[in-house]
Formats: sequence, structure tokens, C-alpha cells
Amino acid sequence: MKKYFIITIDTEGDNLWNVKNTDAKIRGITNKNAEYIVRFQELCEKYNFIPTYLTNYEMSNAQPFIEMATYGNKYGCLEIGMHMHAWNSPPYYPLKFANGGNNSYLGEYPKKIIRDKLCFLYDHLCKVFQAEITSHRGGRWYLNDYIIKCLEELGIFVDCSITPKVTWRDNVGYTKYSNGRSWSIYKDKVCKLKYKNIFYGKCNIIEVPMTIRKNSKNEKIWMRPNGKNLKDLLWLIDDNYKSDCNYMEFMLHSSELMPGGSPTFKNTRDIERLYDNLENLFKSISEKYIGISLSDFARKYIK
Ligand SMILES: [Zn+2]
Repeated sequence: MKKYFIITIDTEGDNLWNVKNTDAKIRGITNKNAEYIVRFQELCEKYNFIPTYLTNYEMSNAQPFIEMATYGNKYGCLEIGMHMHAWNSPPYYPLKFANGGNNSYLGEYPKKIIRDKLCFLYDHLCKVFQAEITSHRGGRWYLNDYIIKCLEELGIFVDCSITPKVTWRDNVGYTKYSNGRSWSIYKDKVCKLKYKNIFYGKCNIIEVPMTIRKNSKNEKIWMRPNGKNLKDLLWLIDDNYKSDCNYMEFMLHSSELMPGGSPTFKNTRDIERLYDNLENLFKSISEKYIGISLSDFARKYIK
């Protein structure tokens, strides 16, 4: 029996691995990688895979991506979801910078601002892409109870912010004492999101965690190509297939599809190697898995 294959692309500006912790740096964020996404989309279509583009604010203003994604979404070849980079998403709100700080987590803002940022991006994405937005991934793999509550009220019913076995506790935010979430105790299995402490009652958002599995050397292997890990990824396809998990979730950033858009793929040669690996990988995946969008997968789970 075939399992499901879910492709998630964090669709965001160029080279965001350099910290954007001043207003000038945030204003300088570019979205040139939008022109390079169509090649990836075509490769997915060749294998009948349906990528979910988790899109942030700067990419919702990138014309080449808007055109491709609006058309593809209309014909069911892709899904548009939401990806929140709190540091570059209206309304803007000044936080107090702590020395050594990094990009902000959404949870660092006042509740009203969190809600306003989520509502703004949600409405903006629906309008720009003429799409129903039902999926989400938090920027820097972050979520908290209040964010979950807001997402549910907006009609988001699937999230993929959880990285099983991985903690972001040591990754600081922008303000003093801020840090990321720990997902160490989570497994790579579909579940309903649970409120941790603030709210009682049930949450109806389905969580589809990232595929991360430990190999025999106890290394965490992510379903995420870096141009040098094809062997690990081929192992992961097989190991995941033999497990009791009924899906596999792939991730990449849209900026990683452009030469020089990330520290991992610095030039055209790196990008060609990535596409070589992707062909290899997708061919192997298509023998055991069938493509599905994140929201369609969640819909099956709800049923
Ligand atoms: Zn991101």
C-alpha cells in the first residue's frame, strides 16, 4: 500500500540566514527567488506531487510567484498556506532588542499584535492568491497557545510547525529571555494540537509534524535535501515506509531553489546538484508514496 508524500516549502525572502534584527535590514529583504520556484513546481508535477507553499509576507508581494501560485492553486497542482515571519509582517511593532538577539518569535509581541499580524497575513494571502488558506507553519518552528487559538479562529485546520525530537530552546529571539519551543517529546505522527497551559478545552487543528527519524548512529535525519545527503534521504524513504507513520513530509525553503539564495546552495553548480538529487529522490519516492497537499491530507485524517 502506498503512503502519502507531503511537500512543504517555506516560501520566504532571499538569504534569511543572515539575522534581520534592525529596521534597515528588514527593509532590505528581497524576494528574487520567486523567479526560480517554477522549475521546482514543474518537477513536482512530473511526479504528480502537490507542494504546499507556506508563504510569508514578502513573498505574497512577489509577482512571478503570485502568477504561478494563483494559477496552480486554481487547478489543484499546489496549495498556498501561511508562514509567519513576525519580524517582517504588518502591523509593525517595535520590540526592545537584547544584545546577541536574533529574529523575533511571534510569541514575543503583545497579544493584540499577534492577532493583528495573523489576521492581516491571512486576509492578504486569501486576497492575493484568490485562495482558501487552511494550513500554517510558524516562523522559526514556533507556536504558542494564543497563536493556536487565533489560527483556529481564522479557519486554519492544519499545522506543520512541529519538528519531532528537536528543541529550539537554545535559539534566542529578539528580546531578553526569549527562546524557541522544544518539540523533543513529539513523535512524527499526526495528532491534534493541544493547548499547553493557557486555554482549556479541545483544539481542532491537525498537526502533521516534519519527518525526522534517527538512524542507527543516532543522528537525526530530516527529509530535507542539502546537496550532500542523498544517501541519508534514500535511507529515510525506506525507514519511514517501514514505520507505522502513514505519510512522509519533505521541506525546503523557496530561497534554496535560487543560486546564492541560501548558504547551502551558493551557485548554479550547487543548484544543479540539488535538482539531480531531487530527481533521484522523487523517482524513488513515487514508487512507494503518492503526492497530496497538506490540507487534503488533513481532510482525510478528519474523515
Ligand atoms: Zn521561515
